[in-house]
Amino acid sequence: ASPAASPAALAQCPYCGVGCGLELKPPDESGGAWIARGDRHHPSSLGQVCIKGATVGETLHPNRLTTPLWRARIDQPLEPISWQRAFTILVERIQATLATKGPQALAIYGSGQFLCEDYYAANKLLKGALGSNNFDANSRLCMSSAVAGYARSLGSDGPPCCYDDLDLADLVLLIGTNTAECHPVLFQRLLKRRRKGNGLRLVVVDPRATATSDAADLHLAIAPGSDLALLCGLGHLLLEHGGVDQACVAAHTEGFAELEILWRAWQPARAAAVCGIAEADLRQLAEWWCQATGALSLWSMGVNQSREGSATVAGICNLHLVSGQIGRPGAGPFSLTGQPNAMGGREVGGLAQLLPGYRAVGDPAHRAEVESHWGFAAGSISPEPGLAVWQQIEAMERGELDLWWVAGTNPLVSLPSLDRVRAAVANCPLVVLSEAYAGTETEALAHLVLPAAQWSEKTGVMVNSERRVTLCSAFRQPPGEARADWAIFAELGRRLGFVDQFSYASAAEVYAEFVALTAGRLCDSSGLSHRLLAEHGPQQWPFPAGTAPGVGAARLYVDLAFPTPSGKARLWADPPLGLAEPPCDSYPLVLTVGRVLGHWHTMTRTAHVARALKAHPEPLLEVHPSDAAHAGLVDGARAQVWSRRGAVSVKVQITDRIRPGTVFLPMHWGASQGELACEANRLMHELGCPISMQPELKAAAVALTPA
Ligand code: SF4
Repeated sequence: ASPAASPAALAQCPYCGVGCGLELKPPDESGGAWIARGDRHHPSSLGQVCIKGATVGETLHPNRLTTPLWRARIDQPLEPISWQRAFTILVERIQATLATKGPQALAIYGSGQFLCEDYYAANKLLKGALGSNNFDANSRLCMSSAVAGYARSLGSDGPPCCYDDLDLADLVLLIGTNTAECHPVLFQRLLKRRRKGNGLRLVVVDPRATATSDAADLHLAIAPGSDLALLCGLGHLLLEHGGVDQACVAAHTEGFAELEILWRAWQPARAAAVCGIAEADLRQLAEWWCQATGALSLWSMGVNQSREGSATVAGICNLHLVSGQIGRPGAGPFSLTGQPNAMGGREVGGLAQLLPGYRAVGDPAHRAEVESHWGFAAGSISPEPGLAVWQQIEAMERGELDLWWVAGTNPLVSLPSLDRVRAAVANCPLVVLSEAYAGTETEALAHLVLPAAQWSEKTGVMVNSERRVTLCSAFRQPPGEARADWAIFAELGRRLGFVDQFSYASAAEVYAEFVALTAGRLCDSSGLSHRLLAEHGPQQWPFPAGTAPGVGAARLYVDLAFPTPSGKARLWADPPLGLAEPPCDSYPLVLTVGRVLGHWHTMTRTAHVARALKAHPEPLLEVHPSDAAHAGLVDGARAQVWSRRGAVSVKVQITDRIRPGTVFLPMHWGASQGELACEANRLMHELGCPISMQPELKAAAVALTPA
């Protein structure tokens, strides 16, 4: 149960992975919204917030689901039912599926909005109790290339850096990240340093000019899909100009000989030509990298959402490892997480190939450890990685999934190739949706809708991009009959007969069980508890049992010992491949998609925020003047954007801030936005990185015509 409203509350912001601390004050007697402001004592953000965090109080009340809803057929209206009836439906349908098709016909698609306790209970239910590893999360669209890239290069997932490194680096490479709009508080921290005039250099790699590149010393407006070629060209110049730390390479890495062959083949002129930039700019970046005492690379979806996302993350790690720019202040490869608790989800095992504590379902020892801890018989966890989200879509197309449970996310806006997704989901006999808000695009295809308590109404833990763990205590009652996700999964577990394994009295008990499972792992959080976090505030992991509050490790790999069999980091010589769907005569332009400052993902929250709607009243297609002239488009008119998967209509903004041959759309406005709807992801393809299974949401070939 959640407490009645208290005078003020502390929490982590529920939007992006910066994970700012918020202080929330209740409405006054006249009503209105909760007031959010920055928590000056939160070590990650020191009182700073952006427009989303500052307005989150306005999103807590409107348009909430308050009771379970059910329809036997999708052409019927959803009708209220009791929780008792909802659980009966779930138990009967799960048991029938297990008896007929087996556990592989069950799948859950969760969310980086989950608290760690939600992730943990869902994974334990599906992977442990039911024997299906088909738990995936929207982190698959966001960070899975960073997960795979870190694991390949460094031996484990886990960002090695911390936010203090932004204050200590003298070269910050922002590649594939519009940090100013997507991680605003971190960007403001960089700008604050710049204003002090202390020699910080910013280099931005992005096909568009953005608020981020406006502040850069050097903007490399590369062609979409050429990030890895750029990194290879940079590596070539490190070889030429003494940028290789031979002692570090010899003592702490393996694979340099193969990497050197690759880098030597990427002469600066070749790399610059593929990237569509001036060779002099590439040389300038290399010169600054070689001069830097602390080089820090920040990246986000522009790197991860690529067919070669894992290879590009490894390419970034290569540069840091070869030049000794890792494991020390101001240096390292630092992924910026998208969702507020995608980091926690990774630690809890919230992807189809993972188990808690950065373990893998494919590792027999890992499975045995988790089965024992969870109280299930040996062999309960399947040795096969589960279905990543796009594989879940394909399984529905083939009629192989009987139950698809979506929780805390809105895939009917955020997945690529949306027409194909709609058809696949319509082919699933039981679509369950746990959701806080009514009327989402995904609800339109759901049979059973479960009202979920959201952040602010349930207690639990989130982990931000710098591995900092914050307890978010409930400070409001959930509306109506809404329940915490972890409590829904636990109740279902008990009703399925796993009473001992799911008899939690509180979220604190769930968390205690999870952190015990991290002991001895890289993400060791076994010294943490709800009580410690409540008493001492946010803490960084590793935080083994016995750690004193405030002294969790700021950085990983300070001794340059890596959790690989040899103890050395691995250098990878992945050759650049370019886009999965390059432009052609019929579709001559590359569409890239992204976010805007005021909106969050599929607008389930921010569509209720007046300031966000005023700042971004409608979606706009950014088109270079030369491409607009060629297509016969004028500024402010509407265009049809065509890809192999369909077309959308949207207003045109002609601007020279995007490179010729590339156009940009924001991804927020889904079908539920009425006349403003512009389903950008309907145009994108599902082909992705074969290692991380992350779709290449950042690039698809398109054509433009006047609407
Ligand atoms: Fe929230 Fe991210 Fe803005 Fe911080 S930067 S207030 S975490 S949305």
